[in-house]
Amino acid sequence: MAAMEGSLATSEAARALLAFWRAAGVDMDEAEAVYAGTAIRPATPAPTPLARPAPRLKRAAPTADAPVENARALAAAAKTIPELRAAVEKFDGCALKATARNTAFSDGALDAPVLLLGEAPGKDEDEQGKPFVGRSGQLLDRMLAQIGLDRRTNILISNTIYWRPPGNRDPTQGEIVACLPFVERLVELAQPKLLLLTGKAAAHTVLKREDGVMKLRGRRLLYNREGLPAPVNALVMLHPAYLLRQPQQKRLAWADLLTAEAWLDELGIERVSRS
Ligand code: URA
Repeated sequence: MAAMEGSLATSEAARALLAFWRAAGVDMDEAEAVYAGTAIRPATPAPTPLARPAPRLKRAAPTADAPVENARALAAAAKTIPELRAAVEKFDGCALKATARNTAFSDGALDAPVLLLGEAPGKDEDEQGKPFVGRSGQLLDRMLAQIGLDRRTNILISNTIYWRPPGNRDPTQGEIVACLPFVERLVELAQPKLLLLTGKAAAHTVLKREDGVMKLRGRRLLYNREGLPAPVNALVMLHPAYLLRQPQQKRLAWADLLTAEAWLDELGIERVSRS
């Protein structure tokens, strides 16, 4: 009972003190709330005024097509094959360039009447910066020699991708599309009398056809697109790397070579003699 009286006296004294402070002009809301046992909500921090945002630069938002547009512009500006090579070497829009050691753009005679396109550089091509210099390239040279074609005189050799895909994986659609303007420009500048497309990648990329290589190979086709003065004779052949894996298919490759030889004769293309 005595304790209860003591605590009532204490609370009377506290109330009297608060009334005194309020009368003295002190803001007592917080003190009274504590006294009443009410939780005080932490003061909401005043929003910090934001610094005025810097005006945005008016730059076109990057799009997925930006590398392709850049490739088109660089390719169109090239007026000769050496200029096109320089443009490809300057181009940074194909991610494969970052992992490749060299650009393997072309090898052969710049004024050749025959242009051959393969797929992408492998290890040897990456090391030497030239297309078709490894095992499949050596087989290709032997095949071409059978019909009087030689990269020192009458054939120019290039690829549809200029940088080695890591681990020789298939190039992605994005990588193919980024390089395509250069491939198309090479055909425009080289103006070949005959275009040889080795393997599926070259056939599909250039001809924009989905048919299997076995259906396309060995047929006299025409390649045409805006920018070409005239349609270009085109022949799809089996890729030498495929022939190394499937030697039993050399029979078909031989048939393709005979078709090419007959066409070269008709086109009056000079050949080197087989020695
Ligand atoms: N295979 C290709 O298609 N191109 C090369 O340069 C080498 C191998």
